[in-house]
Amino acid sequence: MKNNAAKIERAHLEDSLGDTAAEMYQLIRRLYPICRSITGNGVRQTLKILQEYVPLVIHEVPSGTPVFDWTVPKEWNIRDAYIKNSKGEKIVDFQQCNLHVLGYSLPINKTVSLDELKPHTFTLPERPDWIPYRTSYYREDWGFCLSHNQLQELRDDEYEVFIDASLENGHLTYGEYFLQGQTDAEVLISTHICHPSLANDNLSGIAVAAFMAKHLGSLPRRYSYRFLFTPGTIGSITWLSLNEAQTSRIKHGLVMACLGDPGKVTYKKSRQGNAEIDRAVIQALKDSGDAYDVLEFSPYGYDERQFCSPGFNLPVGCFMRTPHGEFPEYHTSADNLQFIRSEYLGDSLAKCLAVLDVLENNQTYVNQYPKCEPQLGKRGLYRAVGGDRSRAPYELAMLWVLNLSDGNHTLLDIAERSGLDFGFVKTAADKLLQHDLLKESSLS
Ligand SMILES: [Zn+2]
Repeated sequence: MKNNAAKIERAHLEDSLGDTAAEMYQLIRRLYPICRSITGNGVRQTLKILQEYVPLVIHEVPSGTPVFDWTVPKEWNIRDAYIKNSKGEKIVDFQQCNLHVLGYSLPINKTVSLDELKPHTFTLPERPDWIPYRTSYYREDWGFCLSHNQLQELRDDEYEVFIDASLENGHLTYGEYFLQGQTDAEVLISTHICHPSLANDNLSGIAVAAFMAKHLGSLPRRYSYRFLFTPGTIGSITWLSLNEAQTSRIKHGLVMACLGDPGKVTYKKSRQGNAEIDRAVIQALKDSGDAYDVLEFSPYGYDERQFCSPGFNLPVGCFMRTPHGEFPEYHTSADNLQFIRSEYLGDSLAKCLAVLDVLENNQTYVNQYPKCEPQLGKRGLYRAVGGDRSRAPYELAMLWVLNLSDGNHTLLDIAERSGLDFGFVKTAADKLLQHDLLKESSLS
């Protein structure tokens, strides 16, 4: 009964999101061909396109800026790259697939033997048709990624290797969108924007975050929301370094990644482990009636590593479907537009919005008739006909809300303790408020 009600509610939300799932997929199709990295014009172009959806601010931080123990790197830009054989045939072409170039490759233009070329190639022997995604951000090098089949076709020959790239002082670029709410307490939503043509990791996270921002903009909000579209690791380190003073406003946060694959939703808890965000996500996933996984925090993964470093210890978890590294397509050319589906993007967005709905409505109330139960029947709140079971969950939720609303329990506490859906508990509280049986706690 309760899972059916939650399913109907979510189906309704998915309906009300209209064509959003298809629009997210269309956005991903537009962004897919762009060659992104941790810096450079691919990131700028991506953020410019996102500005058509959300009026985010684009920040530029100069190379060389110290950010905690790190330094903002030189800016990398690439225009073209290929390997040609002695007949002048392009056998590897960046224009065909931007994964072919090792990210942050130095420029090169020379002729090499097969033996000289091989140490600069990366393949996946166990998936001989796929091209791996590799980078060398912090060690200056050059290289090509190709399918293992391509590598095995190479004969002893002279090869022209050409990478038209630049690695120079410039900027690290990131996007930020702030939505003011009724209070200054913030919910942080962060997603990485540094990968080239990879759909699930992480154009899916970018699209879901952008449409979440768009959707929230039209709703009344208790919390303020801050969306960060940053390059992985160095981007969140840079943001934290430049905004350290205001991080105390962050009350809840999610890092979003890998949200378009067919797997079930996986939530990785914050370092705190039992923060309100951790409990809100688990409640929303339980209420969805769908299978899900919860992982304990570990200092490995996405930007939650930085937000949850001990000097910050922010309540930020990671919301994903199949975790990074656990789907074979991860960091390969097979993480493409066929691997993700709009229905999974829509499901991810609906579940994220359900989490925010729990946070937004997680208030504390005080029962105005705490001495014995108030008489619900005379207020029309209790079934007039004995034995009518259809209203039972709402009535049960009212009894739980009345009993636990002593100013010390939030609605999430009540949902957890009663085992009822958060939606029932919230509806019950609204009804009781209308009848002056509850008052909002001044502490909440
Ligand atoms: Zn990745």
